[in-house]
Amino acid sequence: MTLIDAHCHLDRLPKYVIPPGLLPITVGYSHSSNQKAVEAAKKHNIPFVLGIAPQTAIKEDLSKLGEWIDFIKKSAPSAIGEVGLDYHWAENEQDTQKEQVVFQRMIELAEEMGLPLVIHAREATQDVLDSIQLRNFRNGFMLHFFSGTLHDAKRAVEMGGYVSIPPVRSKDRTAAIGALGLEHLLVETDAPYVGRTPDAVMDSVAYIAEIKKVDKETVIERTSQNARAFFKIK
Ligand SMILES: [Zn+2]
Repeated sequence: MTLIDAHCHLDRLPKYVIPPGLLPITVGYSHSSNQKAVEAAKKHNIPFVLGIAPQTAIKEDLSKLGEWIDFIKKSAPSAIGEVGLDYHWAENEQDTQKEQVVFQRMIELAEEMGLPLVIHAREATQDVLDSIQLRNFRNGFMLHFFSGTLHDAKRAVEMGGYVSIPPVRSKDRTAAIGALGLEHLLVETDAPYVGRTPDAVMDSVAYIAEIKKVDKETVIERTSQNARAFFKIK
């Protein structure tokens, strides 16, 4: 059984050797990081996800957004991400608007390419879910590094989304794990930013196993099955 780390940044771990039985999904968040994600994915022969994240929408000159999107299209990723809204980094109304504009373009892109969304939502989970619902987006999504409330988690699942659990415990995450079925959960590390490497995904597995009172093998099996379905991995 191959355990899938549904979200990490392998280009930031140039010396990392993927151990047998683990499949990390590498993710970009800006044009330069997307280019590096494609290189890392080729090197390791793993799936990759490309997108323009809200942090990038604030920091970078958006006049090149069209070119960035062309690169994503021709690279044929497994999903569009990480994309979404981040009100923690938005300092004013202008920042929020830039994030909204880019997020809408990313949803459009996912629709056009028939791909699901890997969502980055920080202090903005409700607004992200509203955007997805308003557009009637149907290709599926995962809430990467879930940091919403129990209500957000339940709503995401009702909308057909997955809730992805990082190796960091919190009250809301524990409540979400307790309330949701294993068929709605994914595990991830966001390495090297949160877990040091994708190996840390076993901490997410242990977290879920403990809360749901099931063995780790069951969590590995079910979350990997979910990830395979979401990213369409054979
Ligand atoms: Zn990330």
